[in-house]
Amino acid sequence: MRIGIIGGGPAGLYFALLMKKQNPRHEIHVVEQNPAGAAYGFGLVFAAPALRILADSDPEFYEDFMRDRVELDGMEIVHRGVRVPVKGNVWARVSRIDMLHQLQRHCLRRGVTIDFESRAEDVDRFPERDLVVVADGVASPIRAKHADWFGPSFERRHNKFAWYGTEALIAPLSLIFRQNEHGIFIGHAYQYSKTHSTFVVECDPQSWARAGLDRMAEAESLKYCAGVFRDDLGGTPLLANKAQWMNTAVVRNRNWSHGNVVLLGDALRTVHPSIGSGTRMALQDAIALARALKRSDDDVAAGLAAFPRTRKPGSDDFQEAGIKSILWYENVAAIMHLDPIAFARSYFRRTGKMSDQDLRRMDPVFVAAYEKERRAPLS
Ligand SMILES: Cc1cc2nc3c(=O)[nH]c(=O)nc-3n(C[C@H](O)[C@H](O)[C@H](O)COP(=O)(O)OP(=O)(O)OC[C@H]3O[C@@H](n4cnc5c(N)ncnc54)[C@H](O)[C@@H]3O)c2cc1C
Repeated sequence: MRIGIIGGGPAGLYFALLMKKQNPRHEIHVVEQNPAGAAYGFGLVFAAPALRILADSDPEFYEDFMRDRVELDGMEIVHRGVRVPVKGNVWARVSRIDMLHQLQRHCLRRGVTIDFESRAEDVDRFPERDLVVVADGVASPIRAKHADWFGPSFERRHNKFAWYGTEALIAPLSLIFRQNEHGIFIGHAYQYSKTHSTFVVECDPQSWARAGLDRMAEAESLKYCAGVFRDDLGGTPLLANKAQWMNTAVVRNRNWSHGNVVLLGDALRTVHPSIGSGTRMALQDAIALARALKRSDDDVAAGLAAFPRTRKPGSDDFQEAGIKSILWYENVAAIMHLDPIAFARSYFRRTGKMSDQDLRRMDPVFVAAYEKERRAPLS
């Protein structure tokens, strides 16, 4: 098969890798507009189920990819300055740039062609290909250009985000809620390497404007946010890596493919960064599409028809959870009065995926603390 892929992010590269593994005779060509060493953001987290999926799908890549991971159990919710630890969730943290380098290395070793600093303006960049994969990210200009093919919807959500990093090593995955005269600021922070932590800052648009972040240059914005989270950072500065303030978007597409062109990863569907699963979703899309093509003996029409049948239920389920998570963060002002333990319970219950019984199984000590505080059993 001759395959053209637009976008060398996790979705495009992992799909290229899996297809080459399935059949080394496939001719696969990826175009990526950025240079090989470019990546926005800092680290990523992967929950245990995501790791199992990746280990099953390509053990060789998985081993390299996970070699330098930082793996820790549990997280902390920081509310009113009180740290509430909750055990039971294992997270692997990896550097986003290292993941992309590993993907690039494995792709090149298996014979995938990657053209860096090469931008595709449209799918006609790949004429006479059996399959064209559009994996050009959340803003996907190609999806927008062919809205009549895919029927996309793009819903821009309210809260503002900046994907910062820091040299402060924040070991438990921490969700930090800080309030000042301008409003509420949320830090999503975790160590992902021996030297760095991710520090995503989120706030509602009113707090953002009152703080003047809408008018600040990057250096001022970093300084302001480092001030808000001074106690958590121990005075260590925040760092930026092409980090502009942005709004998350909920992307959906009525049709996942048109003719021999298929959407993959964030171009296809987004989830909220707070559930830490966009990359996982992108990689699972790649796995599902590669499997669908394998099962159809590389009959592209049959494979593309099967892809949403197998992948859409899981994808929709995650997106729904992501939307509930978005709403919880957007409305967090209404529950800031809760004491730290009740607040932490509300966080864990926000997507509806975790019951109190799950919470009890996950961390009986946390539940005991909750029950002691209320002098009543958790439902
Ligand atoms: C603040 C924040 C925190 C996050 N944290 C996590 C996390 O902890 N865990 C997690 O799993 N996910 C996380 N994500 C989500 C994750 O980054 C994305 O879901 C993931 O990168 C999607 O992969 P992708 O390949 O679909 O798109 P992208 O990674 O966006 O890759 C698309 C690629 O296409 C290229 N491109 C675009 N247009 C063209 C063109 N016309 N021609 C050539 N190349 C083009 C781009 O340069 C880019 O390299 C986070 C996202 C944000 C914003």
